[in-house]
Amino acid sequence: REDFPPTAEAAVSQYACQRRTTTENNNKIFTDAFEVLAERYQSNEMERRCLGLRRAASVLKSLPWAVRSLESTHNLPCLGEHAKAVMDEILEHGLSFEVEKILSDERYQTMKLFTSVFGVGPKTADKWYRRGHRSFSDVLTDRSIHLNQMQQNGFLHYGDISRAVSKAEARALMSVIDEAAHAITPNAILTLTGGFRRGKEFGHDVDFILTTPEQGKEESLLQNIIKRLKKQGILLYCEYQSSTFDMSKLPIQKFKAMDQFAKCFLIMRLESSRVEEGLHNVEGDSKSWRAVRVDLVSPPMDHYAFALLGWSGSTMFDRDLRRFARVERRMILDNHCLYNKTKKEFLAATTEKDIFAHLGLEYIEPWQRNA
Ligand code: ATP
Ligand code: MN
Ligand code: MN
Repeated sequence: REDFPPTAEAAVSQYACQRRTTTENNNKIFTDAFEVLAERYQSNEMERRCLGLRRAASVLKSLPWAVRSLESTHNLPCLGEHAKAVMDEILEHGLSFEVEKILSDERYQTMKLFTSVFGVGPKTADKWYRRGHRSFSDVLTDRSIHLNQMQQNGFLHYGDISRAVSKAEARALMSVIDEAAHAITPNAILTLTGGFRRGKEFGHDVDFILTTPEQGKEESLLQNIIKRLKKQGILLYCEYQSSTFDMSKLPIQKFKAMDQFAKCFLIMRLESSRVEEGLHNVEGDSKSWRAVRVDLVSPPMDHYAFALLGWSGSTMFDRDLRRFARVERRMILDNHCLYNKTKKEFLAATTEKDIFAHLGLEYIEPWQRNA
């Protein structure tokens, strides 16, 4: 770990998908500040500025060295005036006054609190804020507010699901779901994805991809797993979205974060006895179970690699993969497929490596995608 950039260092790419970014962040002091500014811009619907700061943070996360002076950053891409001004403040004073001001701002704090509830996005949070609400009890005692099922469950299990999920808990959940899947069909394939696949120690949820080589059976497999978990009494909440995937309507021209495969957003009950290292509880808490957020997506086998790449993240890594494909290769990449606009053809892939190869990119391992 160096304090300054090595002299003959290769240029850092403006694309996150051409950088290797592990979970070790040598510039957290700057990237945490950028994230606060990005969140503020997001809740004010200033998308360009929000993205600008997220890009700046992503570049700093990829550095194997800690920035100690602004001069050392002059070769780095994506660092705009604002980002540099904030870094300058932090280098000089140890903190940014602009960021400190936001952190103590009532609107920022309230938005952060409200959006921490499962099912509550920036729009709902903003609506509640503008009604004068500042706390959960303000919201819950306002009889003119109707909470949907997801939000009701978000509040009901708030304590548990706002607490990070450990790797051991993720493994335990995987074995629970794997047992259910294999009881239904012996050739079910379950893969851990999301942040845990990138090597993170903790996550806000656990993400899985589920498929089967029996083409066309993946959606009923997912439905049967849900039924089984329900019967076992370990499904606390389930939001199911059936597949709207239609190959004949592809490729989709516009960037879409959401994909069209069958999926479900769950709250599951995880028993302490299933977790080797015990539950990730608050100190002194000796509950025998906890609630955990789980996402399960079920693509057909021949789209598995694309879904895996999309669901493994990080969000910035995926975003730049798509941007690289579009801008540098005239191709459209999404969670379903890769399309070459010049040749007017789909490019098939059975592994993530195939997709990187089609794009003419060096392969980046999942644990190097923490952009
Ligand atoms: P964390 O540890 O906080 O869970 P994460 O990287 O796993 O971090 P998630 O929000 O779980 O974050 O998302 C995992 C990946 O799945 C991301 O790449 C995201 O873009 C993708 N994703 C999340 N929700 C959807 C969705 N509804 N449709 C398609 N992709 C999604
Ligand atoms: Mn996740
Ligand atoms: Mn998720």
